[in-house]
Amino acid sequence: LTRLYGPLTALSNVRVDVMSALVSFERVFEVLDLAPAIAERPGAREIPEGAAKVEFRDVHFRYPSASEVSLASLEDVASLDRAVNDEVLKGVSFTVEPGQMVALVGPSGAGKSTTAMLVSRIYDATSGAVLVGDVDVRDATLQSLHDTIGVVTQDSHLFHETIAENLRYAKPDATDQELWTALRRAQVGELVESLPEGLDTVVGERGYRFSGGEKQRIAIARLLLKAPSIVILDEATAHLDSESEAAVQRALAEALAGRTALVIAHRLSTIRDADQILVVDDGRVVERGTHDELVVTAGLYAELYRTQFAVIDSPAPHPTSPAPA
Ligand code: ATP
Repeated sequence: LTRLYGPLTALSNVRVDVMSALVSFERVFEVLDLAPAIAERPGAREIPEGAAKVEFRDVHFRYPSASEVSLASLEDVASLDRAVNDEVLKGVSFTVEPGQMVALVGPSGAGKSTTAMLVSRIYDATSGAVLVGDVDVRDATLQSLHDTIGVVTQDSHLFHETIAENLRYAKPDATDQELWTALRRAQVGELVESLPEGLDTVVGERGYRFSGGEKQRIAIARLLLKAPSIVILDEATAHLDSESEAAVQRALAEALAGRTALVIAHRLSTIRDADQILVVDDGRVVERGTHDELVVTAGLYAELYRTQFAVIDSPAPHPTSPAPA
């Protein structure tokens, strides 16, 4: 996504509704924390509190064309139009049962991020339906959808504000005690304690600069405060140093525990733990099953395993992950 829309993300003052149609996954999800351009239907229903099932029923999707999102004056239109007319999802169906972890894997451009975005209704399916807690997301109130789903991406965004303010986006009435608990569970409590201003430390270019792994842990603290029943996680591809990596993994384990999770997975350890792996290729789920089931087939998963996952994890395996078979 960043590859395609990098230039557009620079337009930081573009109206929010246009942005949410175009800019990258992580900014829409995390900066606006789910403020889709999509309108709430009159008489929309609440998703029941704690609802944790996700279902895709024959979902087809094509991105709106540049003209549909009023960007005709931008120079990037030509490159946008290259991609927009094709169906990106071509009949995707799956169910994530409450408490399950489902991993999406597949080649670049296969449609994994798009699938994840449809759950939060950043866009609507062109046809078919996406259900959260048995409610079609088009019939759900945006607030209840927002409350049910939390997102952690590779590129976590923090505002140029204090740590406390950054955290209270998730829970405005959280006490300082709650903020500290979330920070500790997210493995960043000690670091914040060591800062002279503690929770009042201003974050960002003119403030305290957290590393990528630290920012991600603050974002995980935010998710823990929000306590959604469903988590969407875009797992990091970039390698952090091994200490940060281990801390991020511990924080993520806290974030995912007891929740339904849809993970765009890049780590063998995650994929091995998944209740179900969906192998996405060219907008379709081409294989599904557990690691043990899929690795013995001669399909795309087995190939990805050999060429990517085993290779990625083998030089420096996560301490808790078993060595590749
Ligand atoms: P990666 O692993 O590289 O992130 P992915 O499997 O997540 O890939 P998507 O990002 O969902 O794939 O992209 C699926 C297809 O949709 C690609 O062809 C991509 O170029 C296209 N695409 C993604 N975002 C948009 C957008 N906002 N507008 C138009 N096309 C898009």
